[in-house]
Amino acid sequence: MSQFPCYCGHVISDITDHLPYKAFYVASEERLATLDGMRAYERTMYECAECGRIWMQVTEDTNDWVSYQPESGRRGTLSKRGATPEK
Ligand SMILES: [Zn+2]
Repeated sequence: MSQFPCYCGHVISDITDHLPYKAFYVASEERLATLDGMRAYERTMYECAECGRIWMQVTEDTNDWVSYQPESGRRGTLSKRGATPEK
Protein backbone atom coordinates (compact mmCIF):
# COMPACT_ATOMS: atom_id res chain seq x y z
CA MET A 1 0.00 0.00 0.00
CA SER A 2 1.59 3.29 -1.03
CA GLN A 3 -1.06 5.57 0.42
CA PHE A 4 -4.66 5.59 1.56
CA PRO A 5 -7.08 8.10 3.06
CA CYS A 6 -8.00 7.86 6.71
CA TYR A 7 -11.63 8.49 7.67
CA CYS A 8 -10.53 11.90 9.04
CA GLY A 9 -9.26 12.98 5.60
CA HIS A 10 -5.55 12.69 6.33
CA VAL A 11 -3.65 10.67 3.72
CA ILE A 12 -1.42 7.98 5.22
CA SER A 13 1.60 7.53 2.97
CA ASP A 14 3.96 4.56 2.85
CA ILE A 15 6.62 5.43 0.29
CA THR A 16 9.80 5.03 2.35
CA ASP A 17 11.31 2.94 5.16
CA HIS A 18 11.45 3.68 8.90
CA LEU A 19 8.09 5.38 9.17
CA PRO A 20 7.28 6.41 12.76
CA TYR A 21 3.61 5.64 12.20
CA LYS A 22 4.05 2.13 10.79
CA ALA A 23 4.62 -1.15 12.61
CA PHE A 24 4.25 -4.86 12.13
CA TYR A 25 2.53 -7.32 14.37
CA VAL A 26 2.35 -11.06 14.77
CA ALA A 27 -0.62 -12.86 16.26
CA SER A 28 0.18 -14.70 19.46
CA GLU A 29 -0.73 -17.97 17.76
CA GLU A 30 1.81 -17.22 15.02
CA ARG A 31 4.52 -16.25 17.46
CA LEU A 32 4.78 -19.88 18.51
CA ALA A 33 5.75 -20.70 14.91
CA THR A 34 8.66 -18.27 15.22
CA LEU A 35 9.88 -19.98 18.36
CA ASP A 36 9.74 -23.30 16.49
CA GLY A 37 11.90 -21.84 13.70
CA MET A 38 9.00 -21.45 11.30
CA ARG A 39 7.99 -18.28 9.51
CA ALA A 40 5.48 -16.15 11.35
CA TYR A 41 2.99 -14.14 9.37
CA GLU A 42 3.50 -10.44 9.95
CA ARG A 43 0.76 -7.99 9.29
CA THR A 44 1.08 -4.23 8.96
CA MET A 45 -0.41 -1.47 11.02
CA TYR A 46 -0.43 2.31 10.64
CA GLU A 47 -1.31 5.17 12.97
CA CYS A 48 -2.96 8.24 11.45
CA ALA A 49 -0.91 11.32 12.42
CA GLU A 50 -4.04 13.45 12.60
CA CYS A 51 -6.68 11.46 14.46
CA GLY A 52 -4.54 8.69 15.95
CA ARG A 53 -6.69 5.99 14.43
CA ILE A 54 -4.87 2.66 14.16
CA TRP A 55 -5.27 0.79 10.90
CA MET A 56 -4.56 -2.94 11.09
CA GLN A 57 -4.20 -5.32 8.20
CA VAL A 58 -6.81 -8.04 8.63
CA THR A 59 -4.84 -10.86 7.01
CA GLU A 60 -1.38 -11.19 5.54
CA ASP A 61 -0.95 -10.13 1.91
CA THR A 62 -4.40 -8.65 1.55
CA ASN A 63 -5.58 -5.09 1.16
CA ASP A 64 -8.20 -5.54 3.85
CA TRP A 65 -7.96 -3.13 6.81
CA VAL A 66 -9.81 -2.45 10.03
CA SER A 67 -9.41 0.71 12.10
CA TYR A 68 -9.58 1.48 15.81
CA GLN A 69 -9.97 5.02 17.11
CA PRO A 70 -8.16 6.08 20.31
CA GLU A 71 -10.05 7.42 23.30
CA SER A 72 -7.24 9.79 24.30
CA GLY A 73 -5.17 12.47 22.59
CA ARG A 74 -1.98 10.48 22.82
CA ARG A 75 -0.20 9.99 19.50
CA GLY A 76 2.90 8.22 18.23
CA THR A 77 2.08 4.82 19.67
CA LEU A 78 3.83 3.02 16.81
CA SER A 79 6.95 5.22 16.86
CA LYS A 80 10.29 4.14 18.31
CA ARG A 81 9.90 6.48 21.30
CA GLY A 82 6.31 5.44 22.01
CA ALA A 83 3.24 7.55 22.56
CA THR A 84 3.34 11.18 23.60
CA PRO A 85 2.06 12.10 27.06
CA GLU A 86 -1.59 13.03 27.43
CA LYS A 87 -2.23 16.71 26.62
ZN1 LIG B 1 -7.13 9.94 10.66
